[in-house]
Amino acid sequence: MLLHKTPIFVHWLYPNLIWKQSSKEKVIYLTFDDGPIPEVTQWVLKTLDEFKAKATFFCVGENIHKHPDIFKEVIKRGHSVGNHTCHHLNGWKTDATEYLKDFLKCEEELQEFDRGGRLFRPPYGKITARQIRQLSSREIIMWDVLSGDFSKKLSPETVLKKSLQYSKPGSIIVFHDSLKAFKNLQYALPRYLDHFQSKGFTFKPL
Ligand SMILES: [Zn+2]
Repeated sequence: MLLHKTPIFVHWLYPNLIWKQSSKEKVIYLTFDDGPIPEVTQWVLKTLDEFKAKATFFCVGENIHKHPDIFKEVIKRGHSVGNHTCHHLNGWKTDATEYLKDFLKCEEELQEFDRGGRLFRPPYGKITARQIRQLSSREIIMWDVLSGDFSKKLSPETVLKKSLQYSKPGSIIVFHDSLKAFKNLQYALPRYLDHFQSKGFTFKPL
């Protein structure tokens, strides 16, 4: 079963990772993983602009390499970008040296555009204690709300409902600018933005 809300004991188990932000203001931190992907990322950018929302994109290095123009567009519109490894590696299935190498490869792609050096999100949220230590100079960004947009088992309505239900001031929510997620995302994202905007929330980059 997909856990839309990260259980609080997980936050305590990994205190060095970032799960959410301060809840003092009505701010939500939207994150988009796995891009840039041509039509999908462009659609996300357009939708965010419509709501004057800023977000953070955790990009896969090989996608930045393949689609540099879209990546540039993400930066140009004032969004944050972070490292999501070069080949979307699962940290639990990859030894620490290999993992670090792939991380650095993505870092090179980011540096081409003068980005990088700051944010990292491990693919699947799977990272070992050793890998965390190796990347301790970076802010490792997890989440407290998982939209589940990538799941073929979830309807667009369920993705929206769960996302609305669990988001709170300071939440970090995960969406995906990937082909797999596109159908659910096209339904859920504009409605999600509309809902929280009408309640006085803003959307800021990390
Ligand atoms: Zn990912």
